[in-house]
Amino acid sequence: MSTPEMEYSIQEASELLGIPIQKLRRWDVQGVLVALRTSGGHRRYAKELINRLATSSTGPGSDKQSQELATVKRSLAEKRRIIQLLLESENRYRDLVETSHDLIWVTDAQGRFTYLNNAAHDIFGLAPKDMIGRCFFDFESGPSFISNRRFLATLKRAGEIKNYVTRLVSTSGDDRWLGINARITTDENNDMLGIRGTARDITEQHLATLRIEHLALHDVLTDLPNRHSLQRRIESSMQEGSVGALLFLDIDHFKYVNDNFGHRSGDLLIMGIGSALRDMMRNRNGELYRLGGDEFAIHLPEGLRKEAVDTAETALDTVRQYRFHASEQKVVANLTASIGIALYPFHGSDLPALLSNVDIAMYQAKDLGRNRHMLFDQSTDSLRGTHQRIHWAKKLRDALDEDRLVLFSQPVVQLKDQKPVHHEILVRIRDGSGNFILPTHFIELGESLGLVQEIDMRVVEKLLQFMAENGQNRKKLRYFVNISRVSFSDQHWIERLIRLLRASRVNPSQLVFEITESAAMAEIDATMTFIKKLRDIGCRFALDNFGAGFSSFYYLKRLEVDYLKIDSRFIRDLVTDEGSRIFVKAVNDVARGLNKQVVAEGVESAEVVKLLLEMGAQFGQGYLFQRPQLIGGATEDLAPAISQSAG
Ligand code: C2E
Ligand code: MG
Repeated sequence: MSTPEMEYSIQEASELLGIPIQKLRRWDVQGVLVALRTSGGHRRYAKELINRLATSSTGPGSDKQSQELATVKRSLAEKRRIIQLLLESENRYRDLVETSHDLIWVTDAQGRFTYLNNAAHDIFGLAPKDMIGRCFFDFESGPSFISNRRFLATLKRAGEIKNYVTRLVSTSGDDRWLGINARITTDENNDMLGIRGTARDITEQHLATLRIEHLALHDVLTDLPNRHSLQRRIESSMQEGSVGALLFLDIDHFKYVNDNFGHRSGDLLIMGIGSALRDMMRNRNGELYRLGGDEFAIHLPEGLRKEAVDTAETALDTVRQYRFHASEQKVVANLTASIGIALYPFHGSDLPALLSNVDIAMYQAKDLGRNRHMLFDQSTDSLRGTHQRIHWAKKLRDALDEDRLVLFSQPVVQLKDQKPVHHEILVRIRDGSGNFILPTHFIELGESLGLVQEIDMRVVEKLLQFMAENGQNRKKLRYFVNISRVSFSDQHWIERLIRLLRASRVNPSQLVFEITESAAMAEIDATMTFIKKLRDIGCRFALDNFGAGFSSFYYLKRLEVDYLKIDSRFIRDLVTDEGSRIFVKAVNDVARGLNKQVVAEGVESAEVVKLLLEMGAQFGQGYLFQRPQLIGGATEDLAPAISQSAG
């Protein structure tokens, strides 16, 4: 039966609904009673509901109607509860956004800020309210112009961008680097409404990256570019097919100054000659490098023989005219130098050949009485070089055939208590008279003769055998194994290695493969493939001689290595050299951020340990703790047994 149509005054409705009259406002045109505004909006009561209430006490089916009424009341209460929860949730998010250290921002479709949280103050130097209506580009630093426009275009196309790094200038004129995440917001027709996102101030991290890159490519004493800069420069020149000249300059009798006036004077002499040579090169088309010790290099891009000889003569003159004040009373005059010259591609079509030939030329200049320059002469060298290579190739092959490779190991210790925790495996050849030949004499040569892959594989085989026999109960102990660039960049070699590991009874997570930083940087894709494949079966990785090559944080993040082994050069100079301390500290800080462990190599004194601990380093390796020993601490008499057992 349908309810008869009724009209109610506000007063009647108030009584029927049990709601105070001042909370009700008016009937609207659809016949709905509108109540006052509450936090959830205007509440409205349909006439039908009031009808039902009016008939509920007298009309038929009153039970059913009071049930319906109870349901309506319940649903109203539920709605109120949900609104309350939504309000709480919104407040919670507002608190989080407003107190976040990261910048949270929203713009309109023109990129003008409509909202920013308090982090705006730290980044731009302005309160959020003073930023409204402005945009990121108002603060952009000149060089970022092009990449910022590219960023915006890509964002519009892709809808979202993560980790875009840009440089801004705050209102106080400070440079700031920001890492930005951004997402386009659109309406239901897919038209752009604006952009919103977050931004993080990464200035400190960015400056640390630049500093460490500078340190890796420059000599700390003279701030001249170092050997690695030179190698990179020449390699790229050679790849472009250019010609050029390379000069190595070595100061004669430098040892005399060092021995008689001390290392500090030696350093001052190097700095002095460095700056004299720098002045000399100012008007020339060439670059000056310091290679280490008392050695400098000059690279003349496009330089031919005449220009190279000219430059060498001027450099010799510069050194002769230089006066060094070793102490207040003593001035060292009569300084001289010896210079070797090689031209590329004529005296070496790849970098190792060129470096070796220019070195030979420099030693010839020394042999001939010093204070002179020598152009590399193919005919005098080639005989000697070829002879040496043949001699070594035979020696290496024999050592492999007769299974005379032996493994030495050196502990990696925990610095705080000097307890050995891991071991690095170092290969040696036992020669006919029972002496051990160090890897520095044969690894590089083995690489150029195509024998190093066999050496590396043998080392792993012997180690696995040793571990299977001895290492079962020491699962936490890890063995670090050096792998040559030639080996790990060959897919067949990697497959062989994986087969070998699978067939062994050894836990792969006990193996850490060491790749030198320079090899990793030179073969970045091959390095990543190697790491990925071996990591899949549980092995770990270390970047060896870190700092000696081109250290870049960009690559560091991409390379999934567990350990950074800081090159011994930096560790050796730690006590005396500020630059080394800055570098080692920076590596430790960055490693901590990237969750990598640091091993300091070449620790020789307690003073160095103390400094390392202060810098937060955890692990070290070096003669102070233990010199390399035959693996397993066996005495030398056992060496043949170990080397033959794994053949
Ligand atoms: P590395 O990986 O940097 O190894 C550390 C070198 O520093 C070792 O020289 C070690 O004896 C030496 N050393 C350790 N502590 C100190 C110290 O306190 N002071 C000084 N001055 N030196 C210290 P080693 O054994 O002559 O090895 C030289 C290089 O040969 C190694 O450098 C590594 O790159 C390479 N190598 C060694 N074994 C293998 C191998 O099985 N395969 C390949 N591909 N390379 C290897
Ligand atoms: Mg190593």
